[in-house]
Amino acid sequence: MKKEDRIKLISKLDSTEYSLEPEVLEKHCIDWRGEYIGKSKLIIFPKSVKKIAEILKFCQKKKVSVVPQGGNTGLVGGAVPRKKGNEIIINLSNLNKIRDIDLIGNSVTVEGGCILDEIKKKVESYNLEFPLSMGSRGNCQIGGNIATNAGGLNVIKYGTIRQNILGLEAVLPDGTIYSSLKNVKKNNTGLDLKHLLIGSEGTLGIITAATIQLFPLPREKTVLWASFKDFSKVLSFYKNINNKFKDLITSFEFMNKESIEVLEKHECQVINLKKNQCYCLVEFSNFQKINDFNDFILSKLDFKNLDTDDLILSKSESENKKLWNYRESIPLAEKKEDFIIPHDISIPLTNISDFVKKTTKSIKEFTNGSKIINFGHLGDNNLHFNVLIEKQQNLSRKLMCKSVNKIVFDNVKIFGGVISAEHGIGQLRKAELQRHKKVFELNKMREIKKIFDPENILNPGKVF
Ligand SMILES: Cc1cc2nc3c(=O)[nH]c(=O)nc-3n(C[C@H](O)[C@H](O)[C@H](O)COP(=O)(O)OP(=O)(O)OC[C@H]3O[C@@H](n4cnc5c(N)ncnc54)[C@H](O)[C@@H]3O)c2cc1C
Repeated sequence: MKKEDRIKLISKLDSTEYSLEPEVLEKHCIDWRGEYIGKSKLIIFPKSVKKIAEILKFCQKKKVSVVPQGGNTGLVGGAVPRKKGNEIIINLSNLNKIRDIDLIGNSVTVEGGCILDEIKKKVESYNLEFPLSMGSRGNCQIGGNIATNAGGLNVIKYGTIRQNILGLEAVLPDGTIYSSLKNVKKNNTGLDLKHLLIGSEGTLGIITAATIQLFPLPREKTVLWASFKDFSKVLSFYKNINNKFKDLITSFEFMNKESIEVLEKHECQVINLKKNQCYCLVEFSNFQKINDFNDFILSKLDFKNLDTDDLILSKSESENKKLWNYRESIPLAEKKEDFIIPHDISIPLTNISDFVKKTTKSIKEFTNGSKIINFGHLGDNNLHFNVLIEKQQNLSRKLMCKSVNKIVFDNVKIFGGVISAEHGIGQLRKAELQRHKKVFELNKMREIKKIFDPENILNPGKVF
């Protein structure tokens, strides 16, 4: 960006709407994992949708590249500028109002910079449930959630955020405000542009607001922790309890032995739970005003056929929190390891056991100084298949990643899965996407990008 353009752009902003300070910029140029460190000379914190429209219009005219940024909790390097330092950052944190709560239609209209946890708490005070939850909820923003089509812990019950968006507002690269904040469940009026913006990772427009479906708040939740000798038993457990409790299950999470080991090494000890090969955390929600919910769950669990070695049902809200904390602290523990090669994949449940066996074997053959850390939202086919490299290797890190990724993603293809379940493509999976999507699909994606963003100013170098 030319200096005179920067000065002109700044003249359109009030002094609290931007920063040129190196310390502020540094913080916003590094991603959550510390893997992507970019450069930028200007970060803008716009306070209105109109201001974003004005900025983007200017940027398109002057061909200034822009990185939209929410809470910067993304895990694929999508929300930070690249190394060259030519992009400006537009961070949405100042656009953070809850515009409306519709208590008849059960929906909420929020601005793009609202923090997920704050929205959840607000609607809870009206006895309503916001249908998205995840470990980063205290920092991520709804605009970022929509731009990544976030999944999270409750997809098994409510679907991904895409399934719950009724209306959307976004600023397009030429400064047009696309406003379709419809608060209706049915809308059959031709092609639905909002679905292109959902999951577009900041490449088509800046999401400034959304109307989202809400659900009745469960009267209570209870958490079951179960452990198993092998993965195939986890799958029969899933089938068994899914048949019995389908509508009451709001999460079904899996963790392998190695993920608990890394948790205990860096974060906290798992207390009073039997050590085993595999673990599941299941959350049940009481929507139906069932009395003595725990007794009800226990009475319906058919212990003889469950084939579990250990089963604990939490007895209080604080026990729920303790069990959830084990699961949600795994990514924080992993972050403290020196060298992890992450994969956020989806595999059909029927193939997942064979995928894990075959891929683990191939990784071990390639490098015996590794551990496979498996955890994730198994109920939605989503597995984090992360390879922890423990021993010094002869190959460079870059080559190790390349070889490990090839093993994992070749098997993802063989077993009918996809290379990203919820984190998206960003910079991390850009090259891999070329191998996994059909040429026709890639071409159509590029054509759509060109229609929205002919000058390629929005998040260049990401996804496409
Ligand atoms: C501990 C932890 C747990 C996580 N668990 C989950 C999980 O369970 N499920 C899951 O899906 N993800 C998870 N994530 C990943 C991450 O939190 C999500 O991708 C989240 O939706 C990103 O939101 P954000 O506001 O931080 O977006 P950012 O990281 O700021 O941005 C992500 C992408 O969206 C774009 N973007 C951001 N805001 C906007 C906007 N307003 N308009 C247009 N584009 C925008 C950015 O350019 C970037 O490409 C986790 C991350 C962490 C650190």
